[in-house]
Amino acid sequence: MMQLPLHFWLFAAITAVVFGACVGSFLNVCIYRIPLDQSVVTPRSHCMSCGKLIPWYHNIPVLSYFICRGKCFNCKEPFSFRYAFVELLTALFFVLVVAAYPPIGGHTILGMTQISFPALVPIYWIFLSGLIVATFVDFDHYIIPDSVSIGGSIAGIIFSFIVPELHGQSIWWQGGLYGILGFVAGFVPLQLLRLGFTWYFRKRERIEQDEYAMGFGDIKLMGAVGAFLGYQAAGFSILAGAFLGTVIALPLLLCGKRKLLDKIPFGPYLSLGAIIYLFWGEAIIGAYLRLLIG
Ligand SMILES: [Zn+2]
Repeated sequence: MMQLPLHFWLFAAITAVVFGACVGSFLNVCIYRIPLDQSVVTPRSHCMSCGKLIPWYHNIPVLSYFICRGKCFNCKEPFSFRYAFVELLTALFFVLVVAAYPPIGGHTILGMTQISFPALVPIYWIFLSGLIVATFVDFDHYIIPDSVSIGGSIAGIIFSFIVPELHGQSIWWQGGLYGILGFVAGFVPLQLLRLGFTWYFRKRERIEQDEYAMGFGDIKLMGAVGAFLGYQAAGFSILAGAFLGTVIALPLLLCGKRKLLDKIPFGPYLSLGAIIYLFWGEAIIGAYLRLLIG
């Protein structure tokens, strides 16, 4: 396969970073407003403290945060660094998608050989944007909005029909079937687990009779991961999420910080698992299989 020229990578990377930062700015609005049931379109961004409308030249993603030294241009109330962080993270993910799934054929700079399919890039951008919103809303409110999880599941299945290459297929209904299969693989096993644990914990009176042992939002989100990336991705994300959750939870448990543990949502780990799969899943699974066989 041909090697892409350097100027292509430069142009693609700069475009992805600038566009990603702008999308990240919109994701900040979504993260703040969706859980409050507010419109993400109107009103335009304003300072949470003094209510002053932020003019466009003070609302440039990432740059404005540093130019205004993280403060409101009007009342000097500090803004959370997280706004700039979400913009930077979105920009990073957008450029990683272009690197891992280059819109024209060739070797990727991540070292994989990838058959190019340009429509994958915007679909993965949409997918990652959804995960970012789900993760930060989950951190703030311990919920995952239905518009992201259910909306993402429906969008993933529709994209699977339109772009069967999402699942390595070339015929529309085969792609669609893999999308539906992916949703089922992400949703059903976790839902059965949730109902099983809930039944057991209620019987042992470890939780109230109207409480559930797991959040429902995470499970709907895994349906969306499967619909976009396939059943292997759903399985990988659940295992990776459980592993990452344990790695981070164990030290907290050993330090007797149990209280803190009750407060850590599972959604962000599942999202992290899905992101690792998107960029390095095939490489990790390949290495694991070689380890098993060799
Ligand atoms: Zn202000």
